[in-house]
Amino acid sequence: MKSLYWMTHDLRLDDNPALLQAAQSEELLLVYVVDPAWFRVNRFGQLSMGSHRWLFVQQALMDLDSALRDLGHRLCIVEGGPEDAIAQILHQIPFQRLVISQQFGSDELDRIEQLQRVHPQVQFEIVDTYTLFDRQSLPMPVADIPETYSKFRRRAEKASAVAPIPPPTTLPSMVQLNADRFPLRAEFEVFEGQFHGGEAAAQRHVERYFGEDLPLNYKQVRNALGGWENSSKMSAWLNVGCLSTRRMLHHIHDYEESREKNDSTYWLYVELLWREYFQWLALKIGKGLFAKDGSSSQAYAGRFDPAGLAEWCEGNTAYPLVNACMRQLNATGYLSNRGRQLAASCLINELQGDWRYGAGWFEQQLIDYDVAANWGNWQYIAGVGADARGGRHFNLAKQTKIYDADGSYRRRWL
Ligand SMILES: Cc1cc2nc3c(=O)[nH]c(=O)nc-3n(C[C@H](O)[C@H](O)[C@H](O)COP(=O)(O)OP(=O)(O)OC[C@H]3O[C@@H](n4cnc5c(N)ncnc54)[C@H](O)[C@@H]3O)c2cc1C
Repeated sequence: MKSLYWMTHDLRLDDNPALLQAAQSEELLLVYVVDPAWFRVNRFGQLSMGSHRWLFVQQALMDLDSALRDLGHRLCIVEGGPEDAIAQILHQIPFQRLVISQQFGSDELDRIEQLQRVHPQVQFEIVDTYTLFDRQSLPMPVADIPETYSKFRRRAEKASAVAPIPPPTTLPSMVQLNADRFPLRAEFEVFEGQFHGGEAAAQRHVERYFGEDLPLNYKQVRNALGGWENSSKMSAWLNVGCLSTRRMLHHIHDYEESREKNDSTYWLYVELLWREYFQWLALKIGKGLFAKDGSSSQAYAGRFDPAGLAEWCEGNTAYPLVNACMRQLNATGYLSNRGRQLAASCLINELQGDWRYGAGWFEQQLIDYDVAANWGNWQYIAGVGADARGGRHFNLAKQTKIYDADGSYRRRWL
């Protein structure tokens, strides 16, 4: 059998069930598609892929390609609209099956459905590589994912996540494709920040995080606005797929057994369950994830105000703490969870803006952008998504006193 593995947010060899499944073939091609639409202005006036994440993705692609060479393979990187790029490959080579990781965004899901319709001769296999659970171990069917995180968490904590699997030691022979390889940039712009894409960098980061016992006081410091050590900083590697969530959970359990288990190590798991919840919720609600009113029965009142939005994006509002957050985001591609909550709450409540444009700006700027977590968290704060508590309004003066009493965070970024 000839298999095509279309790699997306699964850029790794370790704990990659899609790769193992695809490797059950006589011949195999691994392909990654760079979509020019990522770099064109979208309906929210921003790019889907900003320069921070693009740098990280390119690093991850290079790292993966180099790891594949050790197994006698290459990652074939092509450019084009995904439907066309994949269709061209399927016309050139008679693949019997196409393997792809489960996607959670409605556009990505539509695309796969369309490809399936146009290529009925190809067997499509969709594999859960991105989440702790797969369809079988998920504690409820996708259609029954609860409206609130707490309900999901209660059930999820009683269920067992899928155990991680080791990387393959061999791969079947490589199918040769006659196509122009997308040129990855040899030199990169240097941004402030410590994120470097790739499985090897993810591994180093994990070793450092656990090796320095940082999980032991995670719960006490996770809300701090600055500080590399104050939260795990795993999100970018998890979302580009350089590190699997199951492997991350395995590291937490390992650490708890070999070193120490406390409320903080447990809380890291609780946060991974938030990530999990948003994925399956996105799958359940589909395009509703991007709807202004979300699942709320009331119309969302905020309006699109180009000038106010531009000030917010650039960090030029009347709220210094929010400005500092936005400037950190713009300079580094990262912002702490509390910083994201404050920035989102400001756009929604103080500026009465349309939350979707804020989510669009985050999509462009974040290295760790994830469709389900980003749009799901925005809906949550806007009060139109998960959780019936009617949104979140953070008191910025109070938050400034708690999280930046000495002004060091503002001085750092303003
Ligand atoms: C408005 C807004 C937008 C967000 N957009 C994204 C996004 O695009 N991608 C993204 O991964 N996270 C997003 N988050 C969630 C959260 O802010 C980040 O996951 C977190 O800050 C990443 O840093 P960390 O890895 O150090 O997190 P840690 O605090 O160390 O948490 C460990 C892991 O748990 C998961 N996690 C933690 N908090 C959340 C949460 N609230 N929702 C979902 N998963 C969570 C992440 O995978 C994270 O890596 C958003 C939050 C808000 C309020």
